Amino acid sequence: MTGFGGTLRGVDFPGGVPLTDDAALDWAADDFGHVVRRRPVGVLRPTSADDVPAAVRLARAHGLTVVPRAEGHSTGGQAQAPGGLVLDMTGFRTVHRVTSEHVVVDAGARWSDVLAATLPLGVTPPVLTDYLGLSVGGTLSVGGLGGASHRFGAQTDTVLELDAVTPDGVRVTCSPTRHPDVFDAVRAGGGRRGVILRATVRLVPAHTHARCFRLRYDRVGDFLRDQRLLAAERRFDHLEGRARPDGAGRWSFRIDATAYFTPPAPPPEPLAGLRDRREAADADTATYRRFANRMADDVAALRVLGPWRWPHPWLTVLLPDATVEEVLTASLAGPAVGGNGVVLVYPVPRAVLRTPGLRVPDSPLVFLLALLRTADSAPALRAMVEDNDVLRRLCLAAGGTTYLL
Ligand SMILES: Cc1cc2nc3c(=O)[nH]c(=O)nc-3n(C[C@H](O)[C@H](O)[C@H](O)COP(=O)(O)OP(=O)(O)OC[C@H]3O[C@@H](n4cnc5c(N)ncnc54)[C@H](O)[C@@H]3O)c2cc1C
Repeated sequence: MTGFGGTLRGVDFPGGVPLTDDAALDWAADDFGHVVRRRPVGVLRPTSADDVPAAVRLARAHGLTVVPRAEGHSTGGQAQAPGGLVLDMTGFRTVHRVTSEHVVVDAGARWSDVLAATLPLGVTPPVLTDYLGLSVGGTLSVGGLGGASHRFGAQTDTVLELDAVTPDGVRVTCSPTRHPDVFDAVRAGGGRRGVILRATVRLVPAHTHARCFRLRYDRVGDFLRDQRLLAAERRFDHLEGRARPDGAGRWSFRIDATAYFTPPAPPPEPLAGLRDRREAADADTATYRRFANRMADDVAALRVLGPWRWPHPWLTVLLPDATVEEVLTASLAGPAVGGNGVVLVYPVPRAVLRTPGLRVPDSPLVFLLALLRTADSAPALRAMVEDNDVLRRLCLAAGGTTYLL
């Protein structure tokens, strides 16, 4: 069993023989970004949680890196294991238990699975990502930020307990009080500081409806000023901003501010004192379920039309409040994000981001800046990748941190 010489053929791992065929290796070498491609030597699809610690130990004994992978929505090769072993976690998708206070769920479950199980009890995870097709383990390994983060922090801040396997193959139940070192290493650990098997996530009461306001701005200064105000006053439950090219070489800015309510209570209208072009504002009401799942229709259309499969050279950074305007302005001057792309910008107070593994700028208020680009040609991809390098350096020089590449 020693000396793999680059192959795993014939080796029995707990949980089965790793797949070494081209289809499996090509699958594991790719991700949603289609920018970085690195093949592992094998892909293991464990079906029992008990197989994972033994597989990690065996791989380690043979000098193989083990990298867990779930939905593969990384954009920079984060779930790839060049020359190592990819652990496909999608077989672990059970939502085990829901109470009014928490949910116990396998790491391979998607957030859409979690929400489907919690809403019938009138509860929801406090923070959801914009897209619910991401796995619990996948977002807990990066942080998991969303429009509710200005209130509740990252998804990793809402975890009560984890069942995890350490890099040396020991299965541990960890929490802020039990093996806190493992708990702190695995959350936002990028899949390199342990494998999450199961998570216990805090839940909060869910309203039934969401009133969504779209507030439009021509000036970046007003756009950022109102986001600061809304984050500080916590007027809304969900707060995100975006910049979009208007087709005429200019950018327009929009705050998407959402307040939850449950009829017969009237929908809230907390818009006083904002500097948006009020005549351009609009609003609608949706069920909370539909609001949380708001990307589903667009994703279905992008899948049918094709751009969902195109390269996505994304860059997401966290910036100190003091430099966000400078970096945002510089990023809007670079190559466009592509017809289906968008630039997200929203504030999160530093005080609610408590996960040690999450690198956050030293500033009381930070802004997430996400350049969600889609490349429709090889030259466009090259230009976007080069621009991302420049912007990443600019962001670091401006006191920022990289959240996701
Ligand atoms: C359309 C889209 C929308 C997005 N929206 C948001 C958003 O709103 N907020 C946000 O924060 N991010 C967002 N992201 C980024 C996303 O959160 C990360 O890319 C996330 O890691 C993807 O999860 P996944 O299940 O696809 O994981 P994969 O791509 O399979 O893996 C991602 C990382 O997680 C690790 N990992 C996977 N499973 C485990 C496990 N069980 N234990 C330990 N580590 C594990 C992998 O090793 C890898 O490092 C979005 C991405 C896309 C494509």
